[in-house]
Amino acid sequence: MAVTIAFFGGVWKPFSNFYDAVVKWKGPSGRVFVFPRTENGYQAFKSLNDDDWMPFAIGYYDTEEGIYHKCEQAPYWAVAAKKAGKKLNIRPDWELVDVQFMLDLNRQKYDHPALKKLLLSSKDAIIQEGNYWHDTRWGICNGKCFKGPHKPEGKNFLGLVLMQVRDEKNAEVGKKKDGESDEQ
Ligand SMILES: [Zn+2]
Repeated sequence: MAVTIAFFGGVWKPFSNFYDAVVKWKGPSGRVFVFPRTENGYQAFKSLNDDDWMPFAIGYYDTEEGIYHKCEQAPYWAVAAKKAGKKLNIRPDWELVDVQFMLDLNRQKYDHPALKKLLLSSKDAIIQEGNYWHDTRWGICNGKCFKGPHKPEGKNFLGLVLMQVRDEKNAEVGKKKDGESDEQ
């Protein structure tokens, strides 16, 4: 039976969106923004005006192949990014596109070799962002939250995203191995 990683602590702490791992994203204006971690990118994307993305980012390229500009202020720390995301003018289709954004961001995150290695080391474990802050969309609330006692519940979208990315990275590794054996 597959084990379950039910909490993003200890060695699994990097699975959290709060973990530092640089990701990039092209904004509606054509500028390519560099974010310090997935949480910052995810929160910024709530706005369709990428001027709003500045405080979430480390810097940006003025075009895809363009010159890099460092943002004047240090980017929001993860918790501040989460708070600031709530105050943005949120795109009307947000709940239709946010899981896809999360997936794409995590595809990039786990291109970082050490993080990819960690993700693959979870083998076939079931990944769940267990939490006590009643996040029942991205994780599974353990029922000991501010809402009062309830049965553990949640859609676990972040866990599903991570397991999908793990499958994809595993397939890439498999393909590379096949390629190598062809050459021999
Ligand atoms: Zn709860």
